[in-house]
Amino acid sequence: MGGGGHAAAFAPPARSSSNVTDLVGLTRDQLAARLAELGLEGFRTGQVWQWLYHRGATSFDAMTNLAKPVRRMLADCFQIGRLTVSREQISADGTRKWLLRTDDGQEIETVFIPDEDRGTLCISSQVGCTLTCRFCHTGTQKLVRNLSAAEIVGQVLLARDRLGEWPASTQNRRITNIVLMGMGEPLYNYDNVALALRIVLDAEGIAVSRRRITLSTSGVVPMMAQCGEELGVNLAVSLHAVTDDLRNQLIPLNRKYPLDALLTACRLYPGVNNARRITFEYVMLRDVNDSVADARALVTLLRGIPAKINLIPFNPWPGAPFERSTDRTIVKFADIVNAAGYASPVRTPRGEDIMAACGQLKSASLRVRHALKEATATTTADAA
Ligand code: SAH
Ligand code: SF4
Repeated sequence: MGGGGHAAAFAPPARSSSNVTDLVGLTRDQLAARLAELGLEGFRTGQVWQWLYHRGATSFDAMTNLAKPVRRMLADCFQIGRLTVSREQISADGTRKWLLRTDDGQEIETVFIPDEDRGTLCISSQVGCTLTCRFCHTGTQKLVRNLSAAEIVGQVLLARDRLGEWPASTQNRRITNIVLMGMGEPLYNYDNVALALRIVLDAEGIAVSRRRITLSTSGVVPMMAQCGEELGVNLAVSLHAVTDDLRNQLIPLNRKYPLDALLTACRLYPGVNNARRITFEYVMLRDVNDSVADARALVTLLRGIPAKINLIPFNPWPGAPFERSTDRTIVKFADIVNAAGYASPVRTPRGEDIMAACGQLKSASLRVRHALKEATATTTADAA
C-alpha cells in the first residue's frame, strides 16, 4: 500500500491477450452479441456454438463451414480457451485424473470414472474451498477462488479432448454423467456454476441432460431451492452425521444451517420425488459416525424424504485426523441401511492408486513442489 503516484510504475504489464475474448464460457446470447459486434448475425451463432461444443474445435481454422475471411476475423478478435494439463494419471481400474492449470497458474482437478453402464466426470467448482470440513483435504488448502464459467465448462471440454470424444454424440458416449463433487462448494459459486451448466445442458452442444448431472453441496441451505428451480439438476447432500453436535464438528457450516433446516430444504427441493431422489453422502469415519446406532438414526432421520444413501469409505490423506471405518463396520452399517430399503449404498473407492479423492492430487503435487523448493534453497545455501 502507499506509494501513491509510484504505484503505476510497478504495475505488471497488461497481458497481451487482455483484449481477446475467450468464446468458451459465454452463453449463447453473449456469443451472439459478440459476433454481432463484428457484423456476424443470425445463424452464425449456432454454427460457432456447434463448433465449440458439439465438435470441440480448438481453432477457428477448423470451422470449415465459415468463409475464410470470417474465420480470420474471429481469430483476430477471439480465442478458444483450454485449460493446460499439468498431469494426467490413469488408474489400473480405468479412472483418469487430470490436474489442470488455469491462466493465472492455479491448479484444479477433474476425474473421469468409467463404469459398466456409465462414465462419470467429476468436476471442480472452486480452487480450494472456504469451508473447512475436517475430513476433507480441499478444505485445508489456503488459496481459494471461484472458478469462472469458462473454467468449469473447460473441464468438460478437456476431458472430451483427452477421451477422444468429439463430436459430442448422444449415443455410446463415454462421459454420460457429470457430478460437481470435485474441489469446492458449488453453491458458493452459484452464478458461474449456473452459467457453465446451461452451456453443458444445451442440446446443440455438449448436451448432457439435467437428469444426468448431480450437484453436491455441504448444505448451503439458502441456495438449494434456487438451484433446483433454475437448473433442475439432481442434488447430493454431504450429510456425514446424524446429530447437530457431531455435524457441527465435522462440517462447521452446520452451525449456520443445522440439520433441521437442511432436511427441510431437502424435502422442499424442486422436482424431488421417488423417481428423482436426493442422494445423501455419508463418509465412513472409524469410531466417529459408523456405529449401529448411527445407521439406525440415519434411516430414521431420512424417513419421508425421497432419498438415496451413498456410504463413502473415508479416503485418508497425510495428517488427516480420521481413519476409514473397517470393512466389517461398513458392511454392518450398510446392512441396516439396506434393510430400510436403500439399495447397494456403498460407493466402491475408485482410482485409489492415483489418489482420486477430493483434493489429493493437487496437494501431492504441491508437496513435491515444496520439496523441490527446499532442495533448491538448500543447494543455494550450500553454495553461499
Ligand atoms: N463441497 C461439496 C462438493 C465437493 S466434496 C460437498 O462438500 O458436498 C464431494 C464429496 O466428497 C462430499 O460428500 C465430501 O464430503 C466428500 N469428501 C471430502 N473429503 C473426503 C475424503 N477424504 N474421503 C471421502 N469423502 C470425502
Ligand atoms: Fe469444501 Fe466440500 Fe471439502 Fe467441505 S467437503 S471442505 S464443502 S469441498
